[in-house]
Amino acid sequence: MAESDGNLKGCRTGYLHFARLLAFLIGLFLCVPAISQDNTSDNQNGPSDQQAVPKPPADCTPSSNDTTHRYDVIIVGAGLAGLSATKELQHLGHSVLILEANNRIGGRAYVGSIGDDKVPIDYGGAWIHGISTNPLTGLVDSMGFKRERTQLDLPYFINGKEASGKEKKAFDHALEEYEDAVKLAASSVEDQYAQADFACTRYKDLSKKHIPLRQICGDLVHRIPFNKAAFLRDCQRPVHSPKEFCGRANKDLRVTSDVAKSYVPHDTEFEDIIPLLTANAGPLESAAELEKTSAVDGAHFEAGEDDLIDKGMGAFVEKLGDGLPACLNSPVTEVDYSGDVVKVRTGDRVFEGSNALITVSVGVLKKKRIGFKPELPREKLDAIESLQMGNMQKVIVPFKRDIFPKEPANSWILYEGDLSGEALDFAKNQKPPLPLVHGTRVVMGLVVKPLDKNIAIGFFGGDWAKALEKRCEGIEHDSGKSNPKCDDLSIAITKSALSNISGEKSIDEDIQEGGIQVTRWSLDSTSFGAYSVAKPDQWYQREVLAAPVTVKGAKRLFFAGEGTARAIYNGSYPGAFESGLKAARDIHAAMLEENERKDGRF
Ligand SMILES: Cc1cc2nc3c(=O)[nH]c(=O)nc-3n(C[C@H](O)[C@H](O)[C@H](O)COP(=O)(O)OP(=O)(O)OC[C@H]3O[C@@H](n4cnc5c(N)ncnc54)[C@H](O)[C@@H]3O)c2cc1C
Repeated sequence: MAESDGNLKGCRTGYLHFARLLAFLIGLFLCVPAISQDNTSDNQNGPSDQQAVPKPPADCTPSSNDTTHRYDVIIVGAGLAGLSATKELQHLGHSVLILEANNRIGGRAYVGSIGDDKVPIDYGGAWIHGISTNPLTGLVDSMGFKRERTQLDLPYFINGKEASGKEKKAFDHALEEYEDAVKLAASSVEDQYAQADFACTRYKDLSKKHIPLRQICGDLVHRIPFNKAAFLRDCQRPVHSPKEFCGRANKDLRVTSDVAKSYVPHDTEFEDIIPLLTANAGPLESAAELEKTSAVDGAHFEAGEDDLIDKGMGAFVEKLGDGLPACLNSPVTEVDYSGDVVKVRTGDRVFEGSNALITVSVGVLKKKRIGFKPELPREKLDAIESLQMGNMQKVIVPFKRDIFPKEPANSWILYEGDLSGEALDFAKNQKPPLPLVHGTRVVMGLVVKPLDKNIAIGFFGGDWAKALEKRCEGIEHDSGKSNPKCDDLSIAITKSALSNISGEKSIDEDIQEGGIQVTRWSLDSTSFGAYSVAKPDQWYQREVLAAPVTVKGAKRLFFAGEGTARAIYNGSYPGAFESGLKAARDIHAAMLEENERKDGRF
């Protein structure tokens, strides 16, 4: 099972063997052209002003025909999912090789150094959400990182002014109403989906046995608790194919709306705070507008208290992956799983594994950066199509002094304020136009004094984040130092919000020179966005994406990553972590099963 384990161990124990050292150097040499090649064609989110940390313990030479070099599992992607899967597979005794496109591990977990003091601030995911239920809380603690609680119950700003106590109360009340409604709706949506699925499956089973339609409908009436007149009527109508029958069942039985926006309260008492609520629950949480978000996907998210990490979540993920066998600068372009062995191509190198685990983002899958041979099954392609890649842009501003003396450290502030003429024109000229409040205002989030430092972070979510980042297309694709040529609007809107919150007329002189940094995840060819969101009526597609693909009776191609995880994690770190563990255990089970089949025990 773990033929090449010794090989990897040899690498890890200091390259004692000369041949191994030579192989490693050749591997490094082979990696170098990939760095320059990739950086010229497509920018990656590599450290812009930091040195890439060398991660050597992998044999990055291809296996050629030497089957002793065949790995049990080739993992595509060294983000949290790929790393947690690697650790678990190694723990279970398997040989693993990770191929990573970037010049660092961590993926969307990545820390920048901000301002003169080089404060570690996450460009990617920063918070441990839902501390009490998050599986990473204990891990972060045990690895010596310190957590700092985010202050969520804070002033928010309506039309550039701090909200009154009455408005705050109304916001909390409206949020409660929304959350209750969306949760109730989600149960009903899931229930109706199960009914339609049952009706469809039952029809397929019974019609194969040539049971007449009238009898099938009679059977269904007794088995599912529906009294929907439309379905009863439709059920009896002549039908030409299972697809037609299932389509009718879906239409008649799945009647509750799965559009998250449908559950925003409309009461006039909430009129002023609804835009804030809609933006907070939509683009600033799910990274997509509520009208494009599945109610089930959103309702299951286990939020709760949020903590930041002293050195950044990127540092935690990097430490977790320390010493794991990853070949950097190795973008995978093709996965051939047609035979008994999976062949994974990066540049002119081809690696062989008994199995492959794909952990790249939904965005990368959507862009078809990796070709699969044979093509992925129809349902997998539909799942990739039905999941969206949401976006979030961060504008990180270091200050020379504390210009927010009233606000506690780690404050999350929800802000609604007027836009300049230029920003308004930009919003209105997008197709479709960007969301505006009363046609003139934007809603954004801000974190003030993260980790008790004189820093503020502006957050744009969903369509705003995509449109603002698009201004940098072809100019800057990395996250890092701001570029005046294309980040001007993101920075101007953020500064205007910070000036209103602080009460300072002009904050320019207080900002550290050249210190503003921005993220551009939607342009990054290793992610193409921040995290995944299910479209309305498509919440179950995460599970479809997670399912392994079987070829010639064997499971060889596996999937993990935040997009494949349970909706309770809503695209966040714990989902990536858990999905990696699960895939590792599934691969282990599949290999045991295959060995037993070969031994004739099945
Ligand atoms: C701006 C932002 C804010 C966020 N906020 C939070 C938060 O506060 N809390 C939270 O829990 N989560 C947050 N997230 C989400 C969190 O970062 C992700 O859920 C998590 O990092 C995903 O891990 P992953 O392993 O699934 O994917 P990734 O980290 O994307 O890992 C996939 C890896 O595959 C590599 N890859 C891509 N293409 C190829 C290829 N062709 N060949 C080889 N390798 C390839 C990538 O370089 C990457 O290393 C945020 C994300 C962003 C971007």
